[in-house]
Amino acid sequence: MNKLREYLGQSPREGVHVSDLINPRKAFFKKVSPLPLTDKEVGYFITGRVLHLIVQNALGIKEERRVYFAEPDKVTVEGNEDLQVGTLEGDPGEFKTTRKWSIPSVPDQQYLDQEGMYCAMENALDPARGLRGHIWVLYLTPGRKFDGSKITYPQFVFWTVEYAPEDLEAIRQNMRYRRDAFVQALATKTEEDFKKMPLCYDWLCATTGKSGTEIQCPHFDTCKPEGRWIGPGQFKGGKK
Ligand code: SF4
Repeated sequence: MNKLREYLGQSPREGVHVSDLINPRKAFFKKVSPLPLTDKEVGYFITGRVLHLIVQNALGIKEERRVYFAEPDKVTVEGNEDLQVGTLEGDPGEFKTTRKWSIPSVPDQQYLDQEGMYCAMENALDPARGLRGHIWVLYLTPGRKFDGSKITYPQFVFWTVEYAPEDLEAIRQNMRYRRDAFVQALATKTEEDFKKMPLCYDWLCATTGKSGTEIQCPHFDTCKPEGRWIGPGQFKGGKK
Protein backbone atom coordinates (compact mmCIF):
# COMPACT_ATOMS: atom_id res chain seq x y z
CA MET A 1 0.00 0.00 0.00
CA ASN A 2 2.78 2.44 0.83
CA LYS A 3 4.46 1.77 -2.52
CA LEU A 4 1.18 2.55 -4.28
CA ARG A 5 0.73 5.68 -2.17
CA GLU A 6 4.24 6.82 -3.03
CA TYR A 7 3.77 6.10 -6.73
CA LEU A 8 0.46 7.92 -7.00
CA GLY A 9 1.60 10.87 -4.90
CA GLN A 10 4.85 11.56 -6.73
CA SER A 11 5.59 14.63 -8.86
CA PRO A 12 2.72 16.94 -7.89
CA ARG A 13 1.54 19.06 -10.82
CA GLU A 14 2.97 22.52 -11.28
CA GLY A 15 0.89 25.49 -12.41
CA VAL A 16 -2.86 26.02 -12.25
CA HIS A 17 -5.18 23.33 -13.62
CA VAL A 18 -8.86 23.09 -14.35
CA SER A 19 -9.29 20.87 -11.30
CA ASP A 20 -7.84 23.67 -9.12
CA LEU A 21 -10.58 26.00 -10.36
CA ILE A 22 -13.33 23.46 -9.76
CA ASN A 23 -12.46 22.78 -6.10
CA PRO A 24 -10.15 25.70 -5.31
CA ARG A 25 -10.02 25.39 -1.53
CA LYS A 26 -9.06 21.74 -1.64
CA ALA A 27 -6.45 22.58 -4.27
CA PHE A 28 -5.14 25.35 -2.00
CA PHE A 29 -4.54 22.91 0.86
CA LYS A 30 -2.96 20.41 -1.50
CA LYS A 31 -0.33 22.98 -2.41
CA VAL A 32 0.12 24.63 0.99
CA SER A 33 -0.08 21.63 3.33
CA PRO A 34 -0.06 18.43 1.27
CA LEU A 35 -1.04 15.20 2.99
CA PRO A 36 -0.22 11.62 1.95
CA LEU A 37 -3.04 9.87 0.12
CA THR A 38 -5.34 7.87 2.36
CA ASP A 39 -5.94 4.15 1.72
CA LYS A 40 -9.38 5.05 0.41
CA GLU A 41 -7.92 7.56 -2.08
CA VAL A 42 -5.30 5.06 -3.26
CA GLY A 43 -8.12 2.60 -4.01
CA TYR A 44 -10.16 5.18 -5.92
CA PHE A 45 -7.20 6.47 -7.91
CA ILE A 46 -5.84 3.15 -9.10
CA THR A 47 -9.30 2.00 -10.21
CA GLY A 48 -9.92 5.21 -12.14
CA ARG A 49 -6.46 5.30 -13.70
CA VAL A 50 -6.49 1.72 -14.91
CA LEU A 51 -9.92 2.09 -16.51
CA HIS A 52 -8.85 5.33 -18.18
CA LEU A 53 -5.76 3.66 -19.55
CA ILE A 54 -7.70 0.77 -21.05
CA VAL A 55 -10.30 3.01 -22.69
CA GLN A 56 -7.67 5.38 -24.08
CA ASN A 57 -5.54 2.50 -25.37
CA ALA A 58 -8.57 0.90 -27.00
CA LEU A 59 -9.35 4.20 -28.75
CA GLY A 60 -5.76 4.61 -29.88
CA ILE A 61 -5.25 7.75 -27.79
CA LYS A 62 -1.55 8.00 -27.02
CA GLU A 63 -1.82 11.04 -24.81
CA GLU A 64 -4.43 13.41 -23.46
CA ARG A 65 -4.95 16.65 -25.36
CA ARG A 66 -3.51 19.54 -23.42
CA VAL A 67 -5.38 22.85 -23.63
CA TYR A 68 -4.56 26.25 -22.15
CA PHE A 69 -6.50 29.29 -21.06
CA ALA A 70 -3.98 32.10 -21.39
CA GLU A 71 -4.64 35.79 -20.90
CA PRO A 72 -2.18 38.71 -20.74
CA ASP A 73 -0.59 39.22 -17.32
CA LYS A 74 -2.50 36.29 -15.83
CA VAL A 75 -1.48 32.82 -14.79
CA THR A 76 -2.24 30.30 -17.53
CA VAL A 77 -4.74 27.58 -16.69
CA GLU A 78 -4.03 24.11 -18.08
CA GLY A 79 -6.40 21.29 -18.83
CA ASN A 80 -5.94 17.69 -20.00
CA GLU A 81 -8.82 16.33 -22.03
CA ASP A 82 -9.26 12.59 -21.86
CA LEU A 83 -10.81 12.01 -25.28
CA GLN A 84 -11.26 13.73 -28.58
CA VAL A 85 -14.47 12.19 -29.75
CA GLY A 86 -14.90 11.45 -33.44
CA THR A 87 -11.32 11.89 -34.54
CA LEU A 88 -8.14 12.67 -32.68
CA GLU A 89 -8.90 16.35 -33.25
CA GLY A 90 -12.64 16.01 -32.65
CA ASP A 91 -14.89 17.35 -29.90
CA PRO A 92 -13.50 17.41 -26.38
CA GLY A 93 -14.67 14.56 -24.20
CA GLU A 94 -14.19 13.26 -20.68
CA PHE A 95 -14.28 9.68 -19.53
CA LYS A 96 -15.34 9.03 -15.94
CA THR A 97 -15.93 6.05 -13.72
CA THR A 98 -18.25 6.11 -10.75
CA ARG A 99 -19.49 3.81 -8.01
CA LYS A 100 -22.82 5.63 -7.79
CA TRP A 101 -25.80 3.33 -7.54
CA SER A 102 -28.19 5.31 -9.72
CA ILE A 103 -27.87 6.77 -13.20
CA PRO A 104 -29.31 10.29 -13.45
CA SER A 105 -31.08 11.67 -16.52
CA VAL A 106 -28.48 14.44 -16.86
CA PRO A 107 -24.75 14.32 -16.10
CA ASP A 108 -23.62 15.16 -12.57
CA GLN A 109 -22.69 18.77 -11.99
CA GLN A 110 -18.99 18.05 -11.52
CA TYR A 111 -18.78 16.41 -14.95
CA LEU A 112 -20.63 19.34 -16.55
CA ASP A 113 -18.37 21.87 -14.84
CA GLN A 114 -15.19 20.17 -16.02
CA GLU A 115 -16.37 19.55 -19.55
CA GLY A 116 -17.73 23.11 -19.74
CA MET A 117 -14.32 24.53 -18.84
CA TYR A 118 -12.56 22.41 -21.46
CA CYS A 119 -15.04 23.52 -24.09
CA ALA A 120 -14.66 27.17 -23.03
CA MET A 121 -10.86 26.83 -23.30
CA GLU A 122 -11.05 25.18 -26.73
CA ASN A 123 -13.42 27.90 -27.87
CA ALA A 124 -11.07 30.66 -26.67
CA LEU A 125 -8.34 29.14 -28.88
CA ASP A 126 -10.62 28.57 -31.88
CA PRO A 127 -14.23 29.93 -32.02
CA ALA A 128 -15.24 26.94 -34.18
CA ARG A 129 -14.38 24.50 -31.38
CA GLY A 130 -15.89 23.82 -27.98
CA LEU A 131 -19.50 24.26 -29.07
CA ARG A 132 -20.07 20.61 -28.26
CA GLY A 133 -18.54 18.32 -25.66
CA HIS A 134 -19.05 14.73 -24.56
CA ILE A 135 -19.24 13.06 -21.18
CA TRP A 136 -18.82 9.32 -21.08
CA VAL A 137 -19.41 7.64 -17.74
CA LEU A 138 -18.92 4.04 -16.72
CA TYR A 139 -21.30 3.24 -13.84
CA LEU A 140 -19.68 0.30 -12.07
CA THR A 141 -22.59 -0.75 -9.85
CA PRO A 142 -25.82 0.83 -11.13
CA GLY A 143 -28.97 -0.33 -9.32
CA ARG A 144 -27.13 -1.75 -6.32
CA LYS A 145 -29.15 -2.13 -3.11
CA PHE A 146 -28.15 -1.68 0.52
CA ASP A 147 -29.18 -5.25 1.37
CA GLY A 148 -27.09 -6.70 -1.48
CA SER A 149 -30.19 -8.40 -2.93
CA LYS A 150 -29.54 -7.35 -6.52
CA ILE A 151 -26.84 -8.41 -8.98
CA THR A 152 -25.52 -5.35 -10.82
CA TYR A 153 -23.61 -4.92 -14.07
CA PRO A 154 -21.39 -2.07 -15.23
CA GLN A 155 -23.13 0.26 -17.66
CA PHE A 156 -21.77 2.94 -20.00
CA VAL A 157 -23.69 6.19 -20.48
CA PHE A 158 -22.74 8.76 -23.11
CA TRP A 159 -23.98 12.37 -23.02
CA THR A 160 -23.43 15.19 -25.50
CA VAL A 161 -23.56 18.77 -24.24
CA GLU A 162 -24.02 21.73 -26.58
CA TYR A 163 -23.03 25.29 -25.79
CA ALA A 164 -23.88 28.65 -27.34
CA PRO A 165 -20.92 31.07 -27.63
CA GLU A 166 -22.41 33.17 -24.80
CA ASP A 167 -22.57 30.09 -22.53
CA LEU A 168 -18.86 29.56 -23.12
CA GLU A 169 -18.09 33.20 -22.37
CA ALA A 170 -20.05 32.92 -19.09
CA ILE A 171 -17.96 29.85 -18.19
CA ARG A 172 -14.75 31.74 -18.99
CA GLN A 173 -15.91 34.61 -16.78
CA ASN A 174 -16.40 32.18 -13.90
CA MET A 175 -12.96 30.68 -14.63
CA ARG A 176 -11.37 34.14 -14.45
CA TYR A 177 -12.88 34.77 -11.03
CA ARG A 178 -11.79 31.37 -9.73
CA ARG A 179 -8.29 31.60 -11.22
CA ASP A 180 -7.65 35.05 -9.76
CA ALA A 181 -9.03 34.13 -6.32
CA PHE A 182 -6.95 30.93 -6.23
CA VAL A 183 -3.73 32.65 -7.30
CA GLN A 184 -4.29 35.49 -4.83
CA ALA A 185 -5.01 33.12 -1.93
CA LEU A 186 -1.82 31.19 -2.66
CA ALA A 187 0.21 34.38 -2.89
CA THR A 188 -0.94 35.93 0.40
CA LYS A 189 -2.19 32.90 2.37
CA THR A 190 -4.41 35.25 4.37
CA GLU A 191 -7.77 34.16 5.70
CA GLU A 192 -9.42 37.08 3.91
CA ASP A 193 -8.17 35.92 0.52
CA PHE A 194 -8.78 32.27 1.34
CA LYS A 195 -12.44 33.05 1.99
CA LYS A 196 -12.79 34.69 -1.42
CA MET A 197 -12.34 31.31 -3.05
CA PRO A 198 -15.60 29.48 -3.81
CA LEU A 199 -16.40 26.34 -1.82
CA CYS A 200 -15.70 22.86 -3.18
CA TYR A 201 -18.53 20.42 -3.90
CA ASP A 202 -20.28 19.68 -0.63
CA TRP A 203 -19.64 15.93 -0.80
CA LEU A 204 -15.94 16.66 -0.60
CA CYS A 205 -16.56 18.30 2.79
CA ALA A 206 -18.75 15.51 4.19
CA THR A 207 -21.14 12.79 3.12
CA THR A 208 -24.32 11.53 4.67
CA GLY A 209 -25.16 7.85 4.47
CA LYS A 210 -26.93 5.11 6.35
CA SER A 211 -24.57 5.42 9.29
CA GLY A 212 -24.83 9.22 9.51
CA THR A 213 -22.64 12.10 8.43
CA GLU A 214 -18.95 11.57 7.90
CA ILE A 215 -16.47 14.42 7.47
CA GLN A 216 -14.44 13.69 4.34
CA CYS A 217 -12.09 16.64 4.16
CA PRO A 218 -9.11 16.62 6.54
CA HIS A 219 -9.09 20.43 6.39
CA PHE A 220 -12.74 20.85 7.35
CA ASP A 221 -12.10 22.64 10.65
CA THR A 222 -9.43 24.90 9.15
CA CYS A 223 -11.50 25.80 6.12
CA LYS A 224 -14.78 26.21 8.05
CA PRO A 225 -16.83 26.24 4.81
CA GLU A 226 -19.47 28.94 5.15
CA GLY A 227 -22.98 27.59 5.53
CA ARG A 228 -21.71 24.03 6.07
CA TRP A 229 -19.44 24.30 9.11
CA ILE A 230 -21.47 24.61 12.30
CA GLY A 231 -18.74 23.68 14.78
CA PRO A 232 -15.64 21.45 14.95
CA GLY A 233 -16.40 18.27 13.00
CA GLN A 234 -20.04 19.30 12.53
CA PHE A 235 -21.44 19.59 9.03
CA LYS A 236 -24.74 21.09 7.95
CA GLY A 237 -26.46 19.87 4.79
CA GLY A 238 -24.96 17.50 2.28
CA LYS A 239 -26.30 14.66 0.24
CA LYS A 240 -25.90 10.93 -0.07
S1 SF4 B 1 -13.82 21.71 3.89
FE1 SF4 B 1 -14.97 21.51 2.00
S2 SF4 B 1 -14.78 23.52 0.99
FE2 SF4 B 1 -13.17 23.39 2.55
S3 SF4 B 1 -11.34 22.60 1.51
FE3 SF4 B 1 -12.42 20.86 2.38
S4 SF4 B 1 -13.73 20.13 0.72
FE4 SF4 B 1 -13.14 22.20 0.21
